[in-house]
Amino acid sequence: MNQPNEFPISELGIIGCGGAGFPTHVKLAARGLDYLIVNGAECEPLLHKDKELLEHLTDQFFAGLRCAIEVTQAKIGFIAVKEKYPALLKHLEKAIADRSSAEVMGERFGNPRLQLLPLGDFYPAGDEYELVYEASKRLMPHGGIPLNVGCVVVNVETILLLGGGKPMTSKFLTITGKVPHPLTVEVPIGIAVREAMALTGIRDLTGLTVIDGGPMMGKIITDIDAEVVKKTCGGLIALPNEHPLIVKMTRPNEGNRRVARSACDQCTDCTELCPRFLLGYPIKPHKAMRAAQFAPFNDQNYSVESVFCCECGLCSLFACPEDLPPREMAVMAKKYHLGRGVKLTDWKNAPTIHPMRSARRVSIDRLLKKIGLLDYDRKAPLTNIEIRFEKVKLPLKMHIGAPSIPIVKAGDRVQVGQKIGEIPEKKLGAALHASISGRVAEVSGDAITIVRE
Ligand code: SF4
Ligand code: SF4
Repeated sequence: MNQPNEFPISELGIIGCGGAGFPTHVKLAARGLDYLIVNGAECEPLLHKDKELLEHLTDQFFAGLRCAIEVTQAKIGFIAVKEKYPALLKHLEKAIADRSSAEVMGERFGNPRLQLLPLGDFYPAGDEYELVYEASKRLMPHGGIPLNVGCVVVNVETILLLGGGKPMTSKFLTITGKVPHPLTVEVPIGIAVREAMALTGIRDLTGLTVIDGGPMMGKIITDIDAEVVKKTCGGLIALPNEHPLIVKMTRPNEGNRRVARSACDQCTDCTELCPRFLLGYPIKPHKAMRAAQFAPFNDQNYSVESVFCCECGLCSLFACPEDLPPREMAVMAKKYHLGRGVKLTDWKNAPTIHPMRSARRVSIDRLLKKIGLLDYDRKAPLTNIEIRFEKVKLPLKMHIGAPSIPIVKAGDRVQVGQKIGEIPEKKLGAALHASISGRVAEVSGDAITIVRE
C-alpha cells in the first residue's frame, strides 16, 4: 500500500463514497481524533455494496483502515455494521484478531484499539449524527460536524480505496430493482448508466425509472441516455414508472405543495418519528406542513427549524398516515431559510436525546413493506466482469467543492489512472483521473470525454 507520506492522499482524487462526496484528503486532515468511525451501516434498503466489500475485499479494507488511522492518529477505530449480519461480524472479528493490534493500527499512537460497532436494523442507522452518537455517546452541536466531538466518519468504500493506494478511477455499486440479475460490481467512473444497467442482463428499460442511490435519499435519473456513473453513485435501482415510490419521487414541487395544503391534520406523527428530532434537534416537519397550509414560508419564521432536516425521507415515506410530503415541505422551508441567512448555529441550546428514541426506531422490514419494496429485496453478490468499456464521460464536479480544472486537451492520449484534472488552487476540491486508457475526445465546461483507441 502507498503510505500517505509517499503519495499524498489529495493526489488520489478520493471522495466520500457515502453519497455526499466530501474530499477525503480534507476529511483525513484531522489529527488526534478520539474515534474514526467506518460507516458500514448501509441503511438504505436494497443496497449491498458495503457489506460485499467488507466480506470479499477484507485485506484491502484493513490496509486502508490502517492508513486512515495512522494519518488521523485516531485513538479508537470503529467498524459499524448491522448486527443482522452475524456471519459478516464474525468474519470481521476474525480479521481483527488475525492482525496484531500493532499491525492493524500502527504502533506510533499509544494503544489504539479497533472495535466492531454492531448496529440495530433501523433506518437511518448510517446517518452521521446517529453513528457518532452510537459510537461516542456524543451529540454534535447545532450546525456542527463530527470533528467537533472528536470523530470522523468514513465510508467503507472510501477506506477500501485508500487501501488500494491508487487514484480513484472506478466505482463499486449495487444495481438492482426490476432487473433479471441484481449484482454488486466495479465499473469505470464515467460509463453510461444504461451500460451499467445492462450488466444485470436487462435489455430494455422502457417503462422503468432508475434511481441513482437508495430508495430513501436517492435521486431520479431524468435522462437515462445522458447520465453517467459518478464517484458518488452507490447504487442504481430500476422500478416500474407506476411504482408508488417513483410516483412520489417524481411529483413536482407545486404538486407536493397542493397535496400538503389539502389534508394534513397536524397529527405530528412526522415529527414524532423524525430521527433528528429524536436525537434532540429542533426539527419539526409538521410545522413546515402547517406553514405550507396557511402561509408562504417567506411570510413568517414559523418553520425555521426545518434547517435541521437531513432529508432522510422517513416522514414522507413512512411516518405520515395520510401519505403527505412533510420532507418535501421541510426541504422547501430549509432552502428558503438557509437562503436568507439562517444558520444552524443560531440555536444555542444543546440537543438532548428524546426518551422515546429507541422505541420509535423504524426497522428496515417495516420500511420495505411500507414503501412497497419487499419483492425487490434480493441479494446482489459482488461479481467480476470482463467488459471493455469504449467511452467514459468524466464530470469535472462529482464532489463537494469547486470543479476540477482540466489539464488535458482534446486529442491527448491518456492512460488509466493518469491525472486529467486538478484541484483549483486554495479551493476545496478533488483531483480527476482517466478511468480508461484512450484519447481525449472532448474537454467541455463540465466534463472530459475519453474514447478507447
Ligand atoms: S404531514 Fe402527515 S404525519 Fe405530519 S402532521 Fe400532517 S398528517 Fe400528520
Ligand atoms: S426528512 Fe423528515 S424525518 Fe428526515 S430529517 Fe427531515 S423532517 Fe426529519
